[in-house]
Amino acid sequence: MALIDGKKIANEIYENLAVEVQKLTRENNLQPKLAVILVGDNAASLSYIKQKRKACEKTGIQWVQFDYEESLTQDELLKKIQELNEDNSIHGILVQLPLPEHFEVPKVIRAIDPHKDVDGFTAYNLGKMFLGTEFEDLPPCTPAGVIKMLEYYDIDPEGMNVTIVGASNIVGKPLATMLLNRGATPTICHIKTKDLKSHTINADMVCVAVGRPNLITEDMVKEGVVIIDIGVNRKDDGKLCGDCDFERIEPKASYITPVPGGAGPMTVACLMENTVKAAKRLNNIS
Ligand code: NAP
Repeated sequence: MALIDGKKIANEIYENLAVEVQKLTRENNLQPKLAVILVGDNAASLSYIKQKRKACEKTGIQWVQFDYEESLTQDELLKKIQELNEDNSIHGILVQLPLPEHFEVPKVIRAIDPHKDVDGFTAYNLGKMFLGTEFEDLPPCTPAGVIKMLEYYDIDPEGMNVTIVGASNIVGKPLATMLLNRGATPTICHIKTKDLKSHTINADMVCVAVGRPNLITEDMVKEGVVIIDIGVNRKDDGKLCGDCDFERIEPKASYITPVPGGAGPMTVACLMENTVKAAKRLNNIS
């Protein structure tokens, strides 16, 4: 078994990006800038924002944060997004999810200029991804991070039967598309899937993004399986765990991602990459 060390890969990405950002600043007078909007004070959101801010500090990407009370109206938020869309000094816009219940998330995401959509959530960026790897410009960060982890460990999805558990627009569905683009045969499972085990037991790779501890157990996977655990759950003792029974599956797997330290850091690293990419594209720098 080999552990997939997402934290290590993320740190290497930060080192490379820091050099690139320095060069852009020096040669093009361009310092990429990420605008982050936070509505309310959801504890998980605060923790995610802290990680993203730290990553900006490591890479030299500028950070500007707009904090609003939960009482912010949708029109006020849309107006702020429009203002950031039109501000040439801003290259990436991120609205931290979840938003309070009175917001219509699809409408909010739709308001973001796709060229500044560094989360890769807009229909434009998701749609382009369907056309093939060469159109994955600002890809959604979590699936893009998974692909980077596979590449780093020379795990080629071509020809693999991959079962993806969880079918959200930000993880499961785009991950299936990216793997399909790379020659895998993906199966996507969700809450209505009958007999989940029948889909996981013969899979060469199982990717899980549900948010339920121990959803995938040792008896559900085959010897030599590659396990990509994207789920994040907080246990009673305050520690984090994924969706797989890590302890029992680990000896059986050829590769496995830990939680924390796998998909999480890679998601943030891909956000940084997208921000630099967006800044370059908006300024016609190749
Ligand atoms: P989501 O939008 O709630 O989607 C969860 C998906 O899992 C849905 O497709 C749902 O099916 C499916 N599902 C729920 N219960 C299931 C079950 N018992 N069996 C099979 N499928 C089931 O969540 P998300 O935003 O994709 O996030 C999923 C998990 O990944 C969470 O733990 C989240 O914290 C984590 N996450 C981690 C990162 C990271 O950077 N590491 C990034 C994003 C998300 P239906 O669609 O049919 O309801």
